[in-house]
Amino acid sequence: MYCSHCGRQVEAAARFCPACGAVVAPVVVGAPIFGQLVRPRTPRVFGGVCSGLALHYGWDITTVRLLWVLCVLFGGTGILAYIIAWIVIPEAPYTLPERGTGSGV
Ligand SMILES: [Zn+2]
Repeated sequence: MYCSHCGRQVEAAARFCPACGAVVAPVVVGAPIFGQLVRPRTPRVFGGVCSGLALHYGWDITTVRLLWVLCVLFGGTGILAYIIAWIVIPEAPYTLPERGTGSGV
């Protein structure tokens, strides 16, 4: 891992660069942004609202979907809430597929 600020090599477990003090957050491909509620691109059924909430709060995704469906069926507010959440919650950024570091160009 290298510091994006000064370019020096930093330990993989380090959170700060020992040379310049810049924050060096490890980049995990495919992982959602920690602490931010987003609608992940996978897994999702419609807009990713249920899976986004489940991932963000550590809930069971099936339970979230089931509760939401029950809200739609019995309350009728589930659809409106889903549409609002769909608009309000940002979509997770595209993540690049992990590349092998074997062959150089
Ligand atoms: Zn640095």
